[in-house]
Amino acid sequence: MESLIGIGMAERVIILDTTLRDGDQAAGAAFTPNEKLQLALQLQRLKVDVIEAGFPAASEAEFLNVRRIAEEIKDSAVCAFARSNIRDIQLAGEAICKAVSPRIEVAVPVSDIHITCQLRKSHSDILEMTREAVHQARKFVSDVAWIGVDSTRADRGYLARHMEAAIDAGAATVAIADTVGFATPPEIDALVRYLLANVEGIHKTTLAVHCHDDLGLATANTLVALQAGAREVQCTVNGLGERAGNAALEEVVMAVNVRNGIYPFNLGVNTRELVATSQMVMRMSGFAVSPNKAVVGINAFAHGSGMHQDALLKAAETYQIMDPTLVGRSGQSLVIGPHSGRHGLKQKLLELGYPLEGNSLEQAFRLVREQTVSRKLLGDEELRSIALQSLSQNGVTTGMQS
Ligand code: MN
Repeated sequence: MESLIGIGMAERVIILDTTLRDGDQAAGAAFTPNEKLQLALQLQRLKVDVIEAGFPAASEAEFLNVRRIAEEIKDSAVCAFARSNIRDIQLAGEAICKAVSPRIEVAVPVSDIHITCQLRKSHSDILEMTREAVHQARKFVSDVAWIGVDSTRADRGYLARHMEAAIDAGAATVAIADTVGFATPPEIDALVRYLLANVEGIHKTTLAVHCHDDLGLATANTLVALQAGAREVQCTVNGLGERAGNAALEEVVMAVNVRNGIYPFNLGVNTRELVATSQMVMRMSGFAVSPNKAVVGINAFAHGSGMHQDALLKAAETYQIMDPTLVGRSGQSLVIGPHSGRHGLKQKLLELGYPLEGNSLEQAFRLVREQTVSRKLLGDEELRSIALQSLSQNGVTTGMQS
């Protein structure tokens, strides 16, 4: 498999999961304190590099959540989010100080829209805010990330000056936020390349990217940023996040894994925990994952058409680009519905414990066709009943069902 290419020499890409901060901000998602801790522990099992645990200045409860997560998590870095004022940074620092690897991320708006409409300050004042915020955060932790809010709608020369100020003040990571999901892949590509070529000192730091999915481009934008030289991805499980959400962790991780030839990076993530993590986030957020959602949807490895099922049974790679067990599914699933064929049905019945052949298989196939005229899918119980009916009517006795 491609996924083994370059281990040991491929460049490491950092995965920061912000499900607990940006995901928690999704309208109606809000996790309880206990859910937050359970999710943080699951993210640690998933082996994400950095868990963004929350925004301590948002409320007393949130401060306590972040502090508890910082105390419990040992194997991932834990990050607290802060705006660029002293109070936010102080609370972030206090919440995070007991973490094994603490990080503070300070956010500073950099686009004219945000500066003039929201902050009503001059460009040089905001630049000073960046310098001061990073300087203050460094008093608490050595790992400070600076993130430019609305970077993709900012003047790129001005964004570059901010990054230089942040790096000069001691930021280890500087991040581009496509806060409103406005950018397209060629623009992200050009922006990353521009910053790598024009920001003094940027090669001493990690360039990160934080993409939103308002135009359905978050994963594509994230991947193009990696190709252009970004080395940290900020993303969320199931793409949960503000509005249309963030880049989906599982999509970015599996794109790098499956297409390692074009994304030759080494990730720390344990992909076998992806489905379990997705299901936990689905349960806790109450946001259902669409059946056809990439990687973690219930249909992501389900094959319905007779032609596909037949080919798949001969060679899985015909219609399957990744092994389902790699993401934590038990295996491919053959779905029996109106498009299924005899080969798929035979295999499915065998999996259920009924080896049908000849006339009994033929009859079962006819029964499936009849019953799926009005139904989209048949469940295991219905298939068992079809198998038994077909076997008994063809004079076959079985003693093997369970
Ligand atoms: Mn965001």
